[in-house]
This record gives sequence, structure tokens and C-alpha cells, in this order.
Amino acid sequence: MTPLPSPSSPLPARSPGSLFLRGGRIIDPASGRDEIGDLLVLDGRISESTAAPTDSTVPVIEAKGLIVAPGLIDMHVHLREPGGAQKETIASGARAAAAGGFTSVLAMPNTNPPADGPNTIALMRQSALETACVNVFTTGCITVGMKGEQLAPIGSLYKAGVVAITDDGHCVQNNEVMRRALDYARMFDLLTLDHCQDYNLSAGGVMHEGHWSTVLGLPGWPRIAEDMIVARNILLSELTGARIHVQHLSSGESVRLVREAKKRNVKISAEAMPHHIALTDESIQGYNTHFKMNPPLRERVDQEALLAGLADDTIEILASDHAPHASYEKEVEFAEAPFGIVGLETELGIFAKILIEGRVLDWPQMLAKLTINPARLLKLDRGTLAPGAIADLTLIDPKRAWKVDAAQFHSLSRNTPFHGWDLPARATHTIVDGNVVWSLEKGFGE
Ligand SMILES: [Zn+2]
Repeated sequence: MTPLPSPSSPLPARSPGSLFLRGGRIIDPASGRDEIGDLLVLDGRISESTAAPTDSTVPVIEAKGLIVAPGLIDMHVHLREPGGAQKETIASGARAAAAGGFTSVLAMPNTNPPADGPNTIALMRQSALETACVNVFTTGCITVGMKGEQLAPIGSLYKAGVVAITDDGHCVQNNEVMRRALDYARMFDLLTLDHCQDYNLSAGGVMHEGHWSTVLGLPGWPRIAEDMIVARNILLSELTGARIHVQHLSSGESVRLVREAKKRNVKISAEAMPHHIALTDESIQGYNTHFKMNPPLRERVDQEALLAGLADDTIEILASDHAPHASYEKEVEFAEAPFGIVGLETELGIFAKILIEGRVLDWPQMLAKLTINPARLLKLDRGTLAPGAIADLTLIDPKRAWKVDAAQFHSLSRNTPFHGWDLPARATHTIVDGNVVWSLEKGFGE
């Protein structure tokens, strides 16, 4: 076994590459840079020089008309390895990430077995090292088996290389357990991610509680079940001093709570998902299980609150909650189907459609939420184009219109509500450590 790398450098085995990118729109939200220019990558690092390389073996990419951004980071994905290889593996999830423009992903720990100890983390990191074409960072569970009862060995998980802890998919209901977890997390300045769901208030709920749940006769999962835990987390963060990141916000009220907490300098951060800003509960009229996710699609008012939260930076992260499920699992009655949809291969296009075309954000603002913001929260040495930085890059064609075809996905799963959608922008090259790992033209061919 090759020795495991440090958490921030998951791919030491790959030899760093050199590249010259000519004439692109270079956007580096970390430094505020936004200009047309050339970028030189030497041995896997961004070079200070922008002169064309003298070495004729260095590949040149004509980037005219393309955005040259730091490699996109998705800090919320489910890769299903170990234990769910029919839905996704670390290798297939990484390919889906690359094809969506992502150079780094953060894998949630609700695998089988759950990643609640250093051995599972070592297994996942080894698999990532050997099979993944992008950087795969790991999270560990907050509690043993994600049961919410007994703390996982947070110190050992940290030593094993996790960059955050979470029971995502589950939510620690016991506030005393959560408080102790946060005390440990603070000792290592480890970010705690929380899936915010009060189980009593949401019991049995399969969709948003409102007009449509009444019409469709399906049990509701009300906003208050999310808001209650977001409020709990704000209070616990203030008490313990630990950093808490509230995952996949869906409720407008939760956005208000986070905004107010940030004004008091509480160490709270938040993320929004493509489906929550692109869709509402009205889509569930056909009982299509590709519209079933947790937290559920909500109403227009919530969508507007999420967009306002993204615009004023209350919500500093965009991510997918990529949750692959096999078609036989989703082809059942709505109430019985598992929650979740795939997202890695459509999210950039959805974000461009809703946020850029919708004039909520401009490209630098949007890219900040996909690069430097997640890098800072997770303390990754990525997410910037500063000279000397690791050359993880994403090239984006902001005018490349395309139609989503789930049959073309590199993910092993097809559960998307966005099949057939027309999207306005697409990644064209995904570059990790100075190597093109995927391009729209050549696929994974290089
Ligand atoms: Zn979740």
C-alpha cells in the first residue's frame, strides 16, 4: 500500500502536468481577478509568468471565449462506496464530477458501513487514490452508525484525514450529544456539517407540507422541522465556538435565521442546491419520484428567499447533494421511494440558468461559491489561481447551450428531474494538477 497523503493532497501518485491556456477570461474570485489573458501551468502549479512556454511539448489550449476558473469544488456528494457499487463508486462518481467540471468533491459518510471510524476512511482514501480522476476528500460521521447516540471517534477521524464531520442523511436529535460533538470538532477546528431535520416535526413526511401535499394526499415535511435545527445549531455554535455548516437549505425561514446569526458573527455557513432553486413542490403533481428529495422541494417564497440569500452571501456555498439511486429503487410509489437525485453533471448548467441568466449573481460571484468559499471552509489548499497554487482548473463555455440527456451520464445512476432541460453553459475542460482529466471534445481520452 502506498502511504496515504495528507488530507489536502489526495493525489500524490499522479505526476503534475504543464499547460498553456491562451486568451481565456480568467476569473479568480479569491483575488478579485477578472480579465482576458493567458495562464501558464508548470509542473502542476500556476506560474507567475504568463509567457508562452519555450518548451514545445507543453500542450496549448485555445481558451478564447471560455472562462478559466479555479477547479470547481462540490462539498456535498454521495459516492456510495463502500457498500453501494450498483448506484455509484468512487471511480464513477469522480468521472461524473469531472464531466460536470468539478476537480474536487467531498464525500458524505453515509456509506455501508458508515464512515464512522478511521479504517473506513483509510479504505475510502485508498480507493480514491487508486481509482478517482478528481480529488475526493472525505468526511466522517458525527455519531457511531449515524444513530445519533454515541459520538464517533472524532479525533481519530481527524487524524485519518477527514476534512469535516457530518451525519448527513440523518440529523443528531439529542442536543447534548451535538454539543459534545461540537466541543471535539472545535478542538481540531474541524467543520461540522449538519443535515437539519427535526424528526418529530417531520415524522413520516415525504414532501413539503403545504397546498400540494394536501392536494396529493402525501404526508408533509414542514419548514419548521428544518428551521428548528438551524436555530439549534446557531445557538450551539455560539455556545461552543465551533464552526457549523448547515447543509442544503430549503426553507426561506432558515435563510433569515442564518442571515441574522451572521450579523452577530456566529460561525455559521450555509449551502444551496440546484433543485431547491430551480424547482418547487408543484412539480410533484405527477408523483414522479425524481422530484423526491430530502429536504423536500418547497414553495416559490422559499425559492425567492434562497436566491436572496445567495445574492447577499448569507449562503456562501453552492453544491449538488449528488445522491445516486438505482432505477428499480426509484420506480416505486412516491411514498416508498428513496430521497435524492444525481447532480454532478447538471449543476453547473442549472446554476448558470437560474443564477446567471436570472441575474441573481455574476460569474465571479457564482464561481466564488464553487471554489474559494468551500476551500476556505474545509481548509483545502485549492480554489484559487494565485501564482504557486495547485493547478486545478475548470474551463467553462458560458455560451455553450446543451440539452440534458440522462442516458449520457457518467454516473452509474440516472435519477434526475432535469432530463430534457435546456441549459445555457457547460464545462469544457476539467484539469487536475495541471492534467486535463476530461474534456467535452475528447472525454476521458487524454
Ligand atoms: Zn442531507
